[in-house]
Amino acid sequence: MRGQVVNPAEGQEPRCLHLGRSGERCEQAAFEDGFCERHGPDAAWQFGVAARRKLMAVLLGIAVLWPLLADLWRAFQHWRR
Ligand SMILES: [Zn+2]
Repeated sequence: MRGQVVNPAEGQEPRCLHLGRSGERCEQAAFEDGFCERHGPDAAWQFGVAARRKLMAVLLGIAVLWPLLADLWRAFQHWRR
């Protein structure tokens, strides 16, 4: 019995294990890892790239604004004295 592959009932593909915001099951057919194309590890990786791009944009914004911030900081220090 050990190692036996349990096949789903005929005509029924394994469905994605992802649950939506209101708990509804994803309708897509699942791959071997139990998730569909949209919700599998690849999707998580895509989100990671998007998050990294957002972080890069923030860092770039800080880099561009840095001289301005430094000037403001110097003016603030001067004003405090
Ligand atoms: Zn899915």
